Amino acid sequence: MTSNTINLSRRGFVQSAVAFSIAGGAASPVLAADSVKPGANSALIVIDVQNCFIDGGTLPVKGGAEVVPIINKLAGSFQNIVVTQDWHTPGHASFASAHTAKKPFETIGLSYGTQVLWPDHCVQGSDDAALHKDLKLPTAQLIIRKGFNKGVDSYSAFEEADRKTATGLAAYLKARSIDTVFLVGLATDFCVAWSALDARKLGFTTYVVEDATRAIDLNGSLAAAWKQMAEAGVKRIQASDIS
Ligand SMILES: [Zn+2]
Repeated sequence: MTSNTINLSRRGFVQSAVAFSIAGGAASPVLAADSVKPGANSALIVIDVQNCFIDGGTLPVKGGAEVVPIINKLAGSFQNIVVTQDWHTPGHASFASAHTAKKPFETIGLSYGTQVLWPDHCVQGSDDAALHKDLKLPTAQLIIRKGFNKGVDSYSAFEEADRKTATGLAAYLKARSIDTVFLVGLATDFCVAWSALDARKLGFTTYVVEDATRAIDLNGSLAAAWKQMAEAGVKRIQASDIS
C-alpha cells in the first residue's frame, strides 16, 4: 500500500467522524495470538495517558483510567519504553474555540486536510496535560511531545497531520535498533491508530494491545480504525498475550 493510499483512506475516516456517538456495544472479536516476548529490539509506546483524556479532564475517553494498571504491569516486560504527550499551544488549530462558529466534534478544512475540532485540551504545562498520576513507568527513556505547532495537529507519535513534519520518534527508534513497537494508551481510534499506521508505513513490526487502549468512537471511527490497522498489517493482541 502506498502512503498516498493510506493518506486518502485516513482522510475519509476522519471525514466520517463528524457526529459524537456512544462508545460500546458488543465486545470486539479477539484474535487468537501466540504469546509474544518483547526483546531488546522492541519498545512499548505509551500514547497520551494524560489527565486530559481521563475522567475529570477536558477530553475524557470513556474508561481511560482503566488502561493505567494494565500499562504499568506491561512495562515490566519491556527494556525500552517511550511515552507521548499531546502538547498543544493555547488557541491551537485543533480547538473548536479557535474557529468562529464552530463546536467541538465538528470538522473544518485546514491547509493539510479535514480536521476534527476538539474541546480545548492538553495545553502545554497545564495539569490537564500532565501524565496520569498513577502511571508508573520509571524505566521510560523518552517522552515525545506532539501537537505543539499551533496550526497543525498531530495524532500520530511519528508524523504531524500535515503528513510532512516528523516528530523524530522514528529516527530515535531506528538509531537504537528498535524495529518492533507495541502501542497502548489513548485513544484507540485516533492517536493510537494513527501512530500504528505510521509505524507500519515506516517499516516497524507493529502491535496494538487492545485491552490497554480505550476509544473515543466518533460515528464509527473505532471500527474504521481497526479495519485500517488490519489492512496495514498491524497485529491486534491483548495484554495477556505478552510474556
Ligand atoms: Zn490534541
